[in-house]
Amino acid sequence: MRPVSYARATEVAGAVAAVSADPESAFLAGGTTEIDLLRLNVRQPSRLVDINALPLTRVEDLPDGGLRIGALARMSDVAEAPGVVQRFPVIAQALVLGASAQLRHMASMGGNLLQAVRCSYFRDPRAACNKREPGSGCAALDGINRGHAILGTSRHCIATHPSDVAVALVALDAVVHTQGPGGGRAIGIDDFFLLPGDTPHLEHPLEHGELIVGIEVPAVPLARTSLYLKVRDRESYEFALASVAVALRVDDGAVGEVRLALGGVATKPWRARRAEQLLVGEPATGESFARAAGEELAPAVPQTMNAFKVELARRAMVRALEMATVVGGAP
Ligand SMILES: Cc1cc2nc3c(=O)[nH]c(=O)nc-3n(C[C@H](O)[C@H](O)[C@H](O)COP(=O)(O)OP(=O)(O)OC[C@H]3O[C@@H](n4cnc5c(N)ncnc54)[C@H](O)[C@@H]3O)c2cc1C
Repeated sequence: MRPVSYARATEVAGAVAAVSADPESAFLAGGTTEIDLLRLNVRQPSRLVDINALPLTRVEDLPDGGLRIGALARMSDVAEAPGVVQRFPVIAQALVLGASAQLRHMASMGGNLLQAVRCSYFRDPRAACNKREPGSGCAALDGINRGHAILGTSRHCIATHPSDVAVALVALDAVVHTQGPGGGRAIGIDDFFLLPGDTPHLEHPLEHGELIVGIEVPAVPLARTSLYLKVRDRESYEFALASVAVALRVDDGAVGEVRLALGGVATKPWRARRAEQLLVGEPATGESFARAAGEELAPAVPQTMNAFKVELARRAMVRALEMATVVGGAP
């Protein structure tokens, strides 16, 4: 591991200035991703700027019914905040089903959105990986790709986006607020995650030194009965093979309004817009849910070992919609 120096920022402007002035520096929040990548020699910053003293830890209920989450709020604190549990259960559930209790106490919300992919070839500096080293190839294409993506892939990268809470935030149209050397901006969360395309090394539209300061979730009355379903190889401490964030309202037996997003199957947290469009106005039944799920997954491109994910994701979507029908108003 390369020697790395350490600095501690106490205000946002200072943190942004310190990292943006030095291309070899990086922010350090909980360190649960960054320190692993340093140890693996996947990332080699010469300087870490610790941002944990910045005043960005609050979880606030907004007067209009929305929510503002500081970038340094810990996953565990957000999962337990009464306003999140009561008004946005899909966020609380996605957090509680991620990582372990110990990790959730350390890991921040900003760091969660920027966590690196879990592709073993990305994490092995000897393997070909276009995300880590553009132009070197993608060892996963002919390798062990059981956990890899079936949606949003390209011939340059098939790594699955690993975050759970990002899936919930995508379903709710959250907005990521940042502060960079040129000022602040607000980025819709769907635009915050980039598809790999020909540039898999670009995962976010952030400039070097641009700090996430918070995440805003708009008021979504439907979210009160939202839920997160996660399917994985073991019941805890495991990333998703397929997951679904859903919020649903049923009016007189038909789908009145629906939010749907998928995790574990795509290169970015995947808003299932096609399924949403098909569902509105349809009977809230297993048949309609299966048809919409099938349409959403029609463009899936399975690899040698992960064709099972198409059926798994389809069933997970149907199951999540059926569960949401019960909590969101039975027909
Ligand atoms: C064993 C294990 C299991 C896990 N399981 C899950 C799981 O099931 N589901 C899930 O969703 N996650 C899981 N995770 C990932 C975990 O949630 C992330 O590691 C964590 O959220 C990252 O937050 P952090 O504060 O530790 O970030 P750090 O490691 O400090 O930072 C991560 C990256 O974000 C950058 N960064 C951090 N904060 C900011 C900011 N405010 N602005 C700009 N850049 C920033 C850092 O420079 C770094 O590049 C798991 C992790 C481990 C180690």
